[in-house]
Amino acid sequence: MKRILIFLSFALFFACKEQPKETAETAVDNTTEELQKPANTFGIVIHGGAGTILKENMTPEKEAAYKSKLEEAIKVGHTILKNGGTSLEAVEKTINVLEDSPLFNAGKGAVFTNEGTNELDASIMDGSNLNAGAVAGVKTVKNPINLAREVMLNSPHVMLSGKGAAQFATERGLEIVDPKYFHTENRMKALQKVKKAPDHPDAKSATSFYDPIIKDSKFGTVGCAALDKNGNLAAGTSTGGMTNKKWNRIGDSPIIGAGTYANNATCAVSSTGWGEYFIRGMVAYDISAMMEYKGISLKEATAEVIQKKLTALGGTGGIVAIDHQGNVSMEFNTAGMYRATMNADGELKVGIYKAP
Ligand code: ASP
Repeated sequence: MKRILIFLSFALFFACKEQPKETAETAVDNTTEELQKPANTFGIVIHGGAGTILKENMTPEKEAAYKSKLEEAIKVGHTILKNGGTSLEAVEKTINVLEDSPLFNAGKGAVFTNEGTNELDASIMDGSNLNAGAVAGVKTVKNPINLAREVMLNSPHVMLSGKGAAQFATERGLEIVDPKYFHTENRMKALQKVKKAPDHPDAKSATSFYDPIIKDSKFGTVGCAALDKNGNLAAGTSTGGMTNKKWNRIGDSPIIGAGTYANNATCAVSSTGWGEYFIRGMVAYDISAMMEYKGISLKEATAEVIQKKLTALGGTGGIVAIDHQGNVSMEFNTAGMYRATMNADGELKVGIYKAP
């Protein structure tokens, strides 16, 4: 009996001793959590492509059309987030609006390949679990970002391409269209112009332009990054790639880490620009890694990756990104980037040129 009593008093002593430690730790964690992400904060940022977008080449009507489509798209995502929806859903639905618009090089309005076809690429990533989905070389799926999401959620894979991706889209019941759905006159004119001067250096670039028609219709990849009220980040990108692309060329947009990346611990990023450089620089992941390993802010990381590292490589383009606190970055080294952002207070910013 005496022994039992001694044992019980020891047990009680240690139980009491452990108790305050746990409480203290929990309290510290909660405080950190609160400091890291103000409750209910959310935000969204989008792009519609980067390149030599100059005011002198723009008509007031065109400028208004781009701005109003960007505004329409971002408001779709913002409403989802405001009502407590996920960042993943906001990213997908926002990109759908841009894919359905012929103004942008994604979905309807995608650029033409050398063979006069349209081959679409897209990817999406969930920052809460690092799950991701991507598709490349899709020719009949109306909204490639939806297929990327299906790959992520309903297949054991991350990336599907060509015929197999199309078959998977049919199996998942996604909307299939005749390839002609993607044909637009402006993009066809751009292809013809590039084909006439295939050796011109600008013909090889996704983002530098020497002809008004190409200027108007070569860029326009779309992307979105969002933070929801639960602190989850997501990013997505959708594109037709580069005018006159050959040999089933695949750019950065469907490559996780290059065109798209999201991690709740750091940020969500969507890229646009000369894809080959974004692949070599692993641009989207590099921004996240800079934040993770160097402990620097989103602003510092995006400036270093786009203005220093990408520029030093010879690459052109930009990114939109949002971090786990709701800070936003829209960084580019080109003359312009179609872009918009909206915060939890509903403040909207839309920009096209370097100085908005
Ligand atoms: N990054 C895209 C690609 O290289 C093109 C673009 O963003 O303009 O496919």
